Amino acid sequence: MNSGLKINIAHLYPELLNIYGDRGNILTIKNRCEWRGISVSIDSIGLNDPIDIKKYDFYFIGGGQDKQQIAVAEELQKHKTSLLEARDEKAVFLAICGGYQLLGHYYQPHNAPKLNGISLLDAYTVAGNTRFIGNVTAKCDFVTPETLVGFENHSGLTYLENETVPIAKIVVGNGNNGKDKTEGARFCNVFGTYLHGSFLPKNVHFADYLISLALEKRYKEKIELAPLNDEIEEKTHNGLIHKKY
Ligand code: GLN
Repeated sequence: MNSGLKINIAHLYPELLNIYGDRGNILTIKNRCEWRGISVSIDSIGLNDPIDIKKYDFYFIGGGQDKQQIAVAEELQKHKTSLLEARDEKAVFLAICGGYQLLGHYYQPHNAPKLNGISLLDAYTVAGNTRFIGNVTAKCDFVTPETLVGFENHSGLTYLENETVPIAKIVVGNGNNGKDKTEGARFCNVFGTYLHGSFLPKNVHFADYLISLALEKRYKEKIELAPLNDEIEEKTHNGLIHKKY
């Protein structure tokens, strides 16, 4: 067990960005910590709330429609400097779809003003003419198993620059932009993905990877996670891997 350890989580704007059950990602992190004896505190951060970056090891932001993104984009600008500092102090961020888009430099919706992001990721998003909807199978080279599965539903096309790299290579589906076969983004411990589903319950190996990083950020050392019986989770994950894989 990993008793006596803890992580503090900031759930950013859940009242606005929580489409397609993205809250399931928070529940997965919470349960997989508590099953190991790691205590977890979760603060829901709303509009006009302060964000104390000294407190948090892990930040989560879900997806949402363009309308909700407008309100959150404006709010995030207030916290840009401090969240950049949190990134540089190796805090872990997981951002899904609409939330992912706002961690880049900007999101340019259709027929609407450009939404400024907070540049935690060297990436930008422009609205495409096609809505990408469907199941995704992708290959990630820093977790085991290497597969990631999920459901995408977005029209935004995201392009990565400089040291921001994809988290996975698309096998089936569209991912970042339906052209370059990339899915998601990573810079430092900031992770973005288009995979809804929710993402982490279908990819518990990725959840454990994030928990390990959050513990390392807090305790300044690598901590081995106690094993869990993931028989059901592995069957779920394997059952969602597209046969083309
Ligand atoms: N509104 C954004 C888009 O369509 C994000 C959608 C989402 O979060 N599922 O690309």
